[in-house]
Amino acid sequence: MKPLPRRRFLRKSAAGLVGAFSALNLGLPALSACTPREGAKLGVALVGLGRYSTYQLAPALQETRHCYLAAIVTGTPAKAESWSKKYGIPSTHIYDYETFDAIADNPDVDIVYVVLPNAMHAEYTIRAARAGKHVVCEKPMATTVEDCKRMIEEVKKAGKLLQIGYRLHYEPHNQEVMRLGQERVLGAVNVIESSNAFYGVGMQNWRLDRELAGGGPLMDMGIYCVQGARYTLGMDPLAVSARAFKTHPEQFREVEETLLWTMEFPGGISANCMTSYAARSSKLFVYAEKGNFSLNPAYGYGPLAGEVNGRPMNLPHINQQAAQMDAFALDILEGRPCRVSGEEGLKDMQVIRAIYRAMETGRRIEVDYS
Ligand code: NAD
Repeated sequence: MKPLPRRRFLRKSAAGLVGAFSALNLGLPALSACTPREGAKLGVALVGLGRYSTYQLAPALQETRHCYLAAIVTGTPAKAESWSKKYGIPSTHIYDYETFDAIADNPDVDIVYVVLPNAMHAEYTIRAARAGKHVVCEKPMATTVEDCKRMIEEVKKAGKLLQIGYRLHYEPHNQEVMRLGQERVLGAVNVIESSNAFYGVGMQNWRLDRELAGGGPLMDMGIYCVQGARYTLGMDPLAVSARAFKTHPEQFREVEETLLWTMEFPGGISANCMTSYAARSSKLFVYAEKGNFSLNPAYGYGPLAGEVNGRPMNLPHINQQAAQMDAFALDILEGRPCRVSGEEGLKDMQVIRAIYRAMETGRRIEVDYS
């Protein structure tokens, strides 16, 4: 084994200790009684170097305190070369989709981050778990409920942690909405309106391919509204109804273009939502007994803006991806469960499955959480 450069060695030495203690942990996913030592940084391998990895995750990994970009997985040699130069990644830490499983033998990689088209999330999450790595999987967790269950099972079997890339759980405006809603600060919440959409008319990529995407804007953007309503209320919807519309049927042949849906929560609370590839929106409006609170924009990378009864929230703008990855690294180092676990991703997929059934049948569909 080649000696590690000093910086890399310092990053890994404390993390290596964590691994050693983990082995004593008899099946527990991570350490329960070890505080991270100063300088401990877990190594992250990004799988899929598309837009999100390039413009958000890799730059965010330059700002994280508890993890760093250790390796990459790409099918494009030109990307391997440019990323290697830009981020100082040695050739021993560069994999393609065929050699990916050899990542099991790389002790510098603690976490595999799957940033591929949706239908590939299950395969790479499971392969990463079998390679003995913790996994972050982008949203939507998978394209079927069955795949979500398999992913949870495999990561559990490996004794590792799974985080879904729901970055807004670590973002101050969305955290404030959770507090206001769940603690009934303005009284009980009765109605929610939310939309998340981008203008993708003319785009040509896997998002239009039903096989690879698993669906249209609901899988990509509308999932944030499902999340937003669920974390505002701290409840899960009981039933849904939905209708779809198309202004560009020639482009959106395989997936929906615009979808309007209602989620019914316990106690008659409703969330009325919209997602689209032919509109621009990002908002979450919450109507409660003593007023309302809102985020607009609600779901982007920031800066976000919020109001409570017309007064600005005035909360800080943070690097959401850095916060998300640091939180996951600390979950691993401190031996606690991840707050946005696979179970959270699975629930959204169960709701999404019901929404698609409602869209296709025109009927009200009860959400099946079994
Ligand atoms: P992208 O198209 O920019 O990148 C996809 C990457 O996968 C590319 O590098 C491509 O080469 C690679 N790939 C490997 N096999 C492929 C195949 N068979 N077909 C197509 N591409 C293949 O996509 P993206 O916007 O980076 O999205 C990737 C994932 O990240 C998606 O699941 C998406 O939902 C998620 N995402 C999450 C956020 C967020 O805010 N959490 C934001 C953007 C994307």
